[in-house]
Amino acid sequence: MSSKIIVVGSSNMDMVVKSTHIPAPGETVLGGDFLMNPGGKGANQAVAAARLGGKVAFITKIGNYIFGHQLAQLFGEEEINMKGILADANSPSGIALITVDEVGENSIVVAPGANAHLNKQDVITKLKAYPAAKIILLQLEIPIETVEAILRYAQEKDIRIMVNPAPVNKRILNLFPFIDILTPNAKEAEMLSGIAISDIETAKLAASEICKKGVKEVIITLGKLGAIQVNKDGARHIEAPQVAAIDTTAAGDVFNGAIAVYLAEGKTLLEAISFACKAAAIAVTKLGAYSSIPYRKEVLLANT
Ligand code: ADP
Repeated sequence: MSSKIIVVGSSNMDMVVKSTHIPAPGETVLGGDFLMNPGGKGANQAVAAARLGGKVAFITKIGNYIFGHQLAQLFGEEEINMKGILADANSPSGIALITVDEVGENSIVVAPGANAHLNKQDVITKLKAYPAAKIILLQLEIPIETVEAILRYAQEKDIRIMVNPAPVNKRILNLFPFIDILTPNAKEAEMLSGIAISDIETAKLAASEICKKGVKEVIITLGKLGAIQVNKDGARHIEAPQVAAIDTTAAGDVFNGAIAVYLAEGKTLLEAISFACKAAAIAVTKLGAYSSIPYRKEVLLANT
């Protein structure tokens, strides 16, 4: 099979409610619009990479009823290679309950369902079916043992591997030497480096600290400040286009999918980060996760 980008990760059905504010404990808020879409960091990144022009396979585990069938259908419509999709007869698909407030901040609760059963044997068998893989993209919404097995497989097969360490699991620290590219956001980078991030300079310090622990390239995403890239040779800052953000859900996922697409095409990491900043800036101007993921044409035509 000719898929060049293999995304391994979670898939959820996202239920999004727009609200004046995120409810405090014990509070009920009468919200606004409701959207139901595929989500989960794995699915978002797979869909992002496909819409941005990548030949993508997605290895994920869905539940065997209701949302699982809908998710599989939607991935097929995105022209994602479906041979990596596994079904769990005994668990529901993952779901996420998302509240988005008026300034675009969000709060999210995830029930992982079948995602928690994406085991290493399943994934390695599936990976072997994609000999043309150039890059594997992972997040941490699946069991860490599975993540470890994939990292070892990628090293053995000399496939570039990119990890978006979200949500942070401290066990990933032991696996840093296997990782080619790590893409935390500011909060995740603080947790992984132990360095508080308040600006570009402190972000560079945090990234250098992560590099010292064995990751080859660290890219920290910094919201409207864009991103920084750090490796053993130095650091650079890539600015984000200025846009009116209404919902930052999935901005990081679009960013990661975009990087994988450009790298699979043989472009440099700097070109990939610039493309990712443009793509993610478009995503934050739209409500929702799935619905905000842009197509390649939109990014290339964007006036930013
Ligand atoms: P996450 O969504 O994972 O928390 P960030 O908030 O750092 O990650 O956003 C990821 C990327 O999305 C940023 O590096 C940036 O390129 C883009 N982005 C996020 N917020 C904005 C914004 N307000 N304006 C422009 N780009 C943004």
